[in-house]
Amino acid sequence: MSYSKAFTLQGCTDSFQAITLRAGVIFDDVYKFADAKNVTFIGGYAQGVGASSGWLMGGGHSILTPVYGLGVDRVLQIKVVTPDGAYRIANKCQNADLFWALRGSGRGTFGVVIESTHLVEPKLTFQTTVISFTPTPDNTRSFFELIVSNTVKWANEGWGGHVTDGGMIYVTPLLSLEEAAESMKAVTDYSITQGGTGLVETSLSWLDFFTKYVVGHQGPIGQLIVLGTRLIPKSNFESEGGKTQLIDVLMDLRATLINIATVTPILYNATSATDTSVTPAWRDALWHLPQGARWSYNSSVPEIVGAQTFLHKFVDRFRALAPDSGAYLNEAEVYETDHEAAFWGSNYARLLQIKKK
Ligand SMILES: Cc1cc2nc3c(=O)[nH]c(=O)nc-3n(C[C@H](O)[C@H](O)[C@H](O)COP(=O)(O)OP(=O)(O)OC[C@H]3O[C@@H](n4cnc5c(N)ncnc54)[C@H](O)[C@@H]3O)c2cc1C
Repeated sequence: MSYSKAFTLQGCTDSFQAITLRAGVIFDDVYKFADAKNVTFIGGYAQGVGASSGWLMGGGHSILTPVYGLGVDRVLQIKVVTPDGAYRIANKCQNADLFWALRGSGRGTFGVVIESTHLVEPKLTFQTTVISFTPTPDNTRSFFELIVSNTVKWANEGWGGHVTDGGMIYVTPLLSLEEAAESMKAVTDYSITQGGTGLVETSLSWLDFFTKYVVGHQGPIGQLIVLGTRLIPKSNFESEGGKTQLIDVLMDLRATLINIATVTPILYNATSATDTSVTPAWRDALWHLPQGARWSYNSSVPEIVGAQTFLHKFVDRFRALAPDSGAYLNEAEVYETDHEAAFWGSNYARLLQIKKK
């Protein structure tokens, strides 16, 4: 890892405050390194995910993405070995087509990444809301109603994070502590009436937040789980009918819902829908909704097939809610319906053209 106050891209003249990583470096190490340099790396909610590889090439969301963009929006330069064996440096000034394709095509589709350089922010302080209560069928519906009815307002205030049926962790770098407490009052009060807790506090850095709320709170390694996902656009929140439909589906599927992930670049406008190759559906979505199906090491083949079949049907409910939207390929279903449209949308044709070069 290296840090530069003024990193100049090869073949360009402009420079950026940036961190450069060799492929394989994981977020746990990146966040400690960035903190020591007094900057913030906008990255994923996991210690062991690599910052240069699958996360980046598939899109790369963060709970700070609503304000600061996806991983693909923030990467400045990628060094890669392409399938013809050539070592290439891709950025906006050279190999620009390849640079575009690497930012969303997913995993090793266009080559093996050796190194990536990422724009960083100054050390950020932000407001954090943490809510936790014991969910029941009755209080979950009321909680989801509060969440859905506040989602557009919270999006405009920069909030990002995760919601489950028994709580949430949300952050925003755009509000003061007092404004954040007021913004979240309806849900913190609700949690307390349910015998739970509701806290709004200032996080002094991303590393402080990550150490307190992510490290030590992650699931075990080696779980047998497959995911399916849908990006839910803002339009689903703009009518009473749309909101009710969404709440009904969330209630039906809450057992398989991993979380409601508010990790879309809704306020980030430095990148247009076609500047990267991820599906343009990211740009007007408010939620990414991952669901999961699990099995055990001693499950039979029919049990495994059954779990995947159920997952497909469940994700179909989300697809029906947002048929023109897309899915996050890094957390998508293996059997995604029309995966080309879901993962890349209108960017697919250009990706194919570049691949054929
Ligand atoms: C616990 C957990 C938390 C997660 N949290 C988030 C999150 O907050 N945000 C988010 O966006 N996603 C998240 N994800 C999803 C994550 O982005 C994907 O699983 C991603 O594919 C992980 O990439 P990796 O390189 O770490 O994993 P790997 O399994 O090592 O690689 C994934 C794929 O990328 C390929 N690959 C690896 N290295 C390279 C390389 N150098 N060049 C080319 N191809 C390569 C591999 O061959 C493989 O196909 C999470 C996943 C987990 C398991």
